[in-house]
Amino acid sequence: MPGEDVFKWVALFALSAMLVNSIGILLVYKKTDLALRGKEYLMCFAAGVLIASVLSMGFPEAVAKNPQAGLAALAGFIFMFFSNKFIKMKTKQTEIAFGITAIEGIGIHSFIDGIIYSVTFSVSQITGIISGVGLIAHEFAEGVIAYAVLLKGGMVRKRALLFAFLIAALTTPLGAFIAFPIISRLKDEVLGLALGFVAGVLIYLSASHLLPEAREHEKNHSYLAFLFGISLALFIMLTKN
Ligand SMILES: [Zn+2]
Repeated sequence: MPGEDVFKWVALFALSAMLVNSIGILLVYKKTDLALRGKEYLMCFAAGVLIASVLSMGFPEAVAKNPQAGLAALAGFIFMFFSNKFIKMKTKQTEIAFGITAIEGIGIHSFIDGIIYSVTFSVSQITGIISGVGLIAHEFAEGVIAYAVLLKGGMVRKRALLFAFLIAALTTPLGAFIAFPIISRLKDEVLGLALGFVAGVLIYLSASHLLPEAREHEKNHSYLAFLFGISLALFIMLTKN
């Protein structure tokens, strides 16, 4: 795929991510109960799409480009483990500090989400689309969480609305557009390592972040959302071309 087309796909998904994130923020602002209920299902759905797309496509593609991609995936997983540990350690402080440090974590995370679109679409259109579907679904939850965290941190509702948008929604296209010129110039072996790293990040996100959080507020049909996510990813993959 020519570079220009790759950029169009990256832009489409990164901006859709921002839109879905904003919808999450707006919905939790207007209809808190509904947004919180929808959030659990979307997190399970996103976990299903992400784990299926990474294990059946992203990771094998990464290894095909670079046999060391497994180590890069391990590095990505460890990176997520420690950055989450860091955020958790920081969030044990007072209410205000909780809001600020957790929101820093969300900001960095959303920025990385943006970089991921640049990496996956640079590898192939289908990898970008499948993992993109999972990422966009989890953006809704991220918007809801960002707003809730700011509110908990003591911000007034209107201000929390604005800041949640700036920190959780806007950072994703920012990450995508900043990373794209660099990622699109990478050689195939290096791109394989980058995709390996992303695979590790997404495995962590799916198994250790989205699923446990959804399980904590066990909903009757959350496993259906998870299985639906897996089926959708496999369906898109099997019907490509
Ligand atoms: Zn995210």
